[in-house]
Amino acid sequence: MQLRFVGCGDAFGSGGRLNTCFHVSGRETNFLIDCGASALPALKRLEIARDDIDLILITHFHGDHFAGLPFLLLDAQFSRRTRPLTIAGPQGIATRLAQLMEALFEHSSKTKQRFELEVVELAPEQSKTFGAVTVTPYPVVHGESGGPFLAYRVQAEGRTLAYSADTEWTDTLIPLARGADLFIAEAYMYEKVVKNHLSLKTLEQHLRRHRRKTPRPHPYERRHALAPGQYFASRRRRRHGPRILRCTRPFPPRSTPARCSPSPVPRWSRTSRRR
Ligand SMILES: [Zn+2]
Repeated sequence: MQLRFVGCGDAFGSGGRLNTCFHVSGRETNFLIDCGASALPALKRLEIARDDIDLILITHFHGDHFAGLPFLLLDAQFSRRTRPLTIAGPQGIATRLAQLMEALFEHSSKTKQRFELEVVELAPEQSKTFGAVTVTPYPVVHGESGGPFLAYRVQAEGRTLAYSADTEWTDTLIPLARGADLFIAEAYMYEKVVKNHLSLKTLEQHLRRHRRKTPRPHPYERRHALAPGQYFASRRRRRHGPRILRCTRPFPPRSTPARCSPSPVPRWSRTSRRR
């Protein structure tokens, strides 16, 4: 299974980065997490086939996470997409999507699509399965407007991916990310604490606190219980807790060392042992 960061910037294009959009694909899965305003040109630039995408998960209704949908839907209509598409997100997503479509392209919300389009509301801590993908939303904290705000724990093809979405620190991030193969966390600032957002330092402090409570695996489990790929993932999870691959917000100022890997991170492979 592969994860590509189609966009990982903020709403202001900081650092020239594109709005949030992650593409996950595998043998049985092909979905997006968030669809910011710049998602369509970014997908085209990366030559990601939009027709193969079955599911789009939206974390909240801020434009840098949500406003790419009208462009994507119109592009699907004009490129004669036939494959069904599901869009899932917080409560009220059907109404918010129709409003957005009308604001950007008048009458577009009433146009009959050539393809089957399903818009599904997700509720906190109620898992929902879409084909091979099971999604569990967790409520997060990101201000007063643009919500409800959901973080997602996604299970597919034997792997677990967790995404914090935009949020300040909340203890729901612990069950969200516990045991995940990959935890993607926003980090709007490097050290400074900003309301409604995480800083990388805050996240590291909480992860350190959490890791101290994590028991070492039993030697028998390390030797016998799991297949090679699972063994590696399990060992890393238990010893070190979920791994932060990169931040989704602007990098630290030039005077401080960058701890995030450069964009885009090309592969999240089931078999790769490079860390
Ligand atoms: Zn936001």
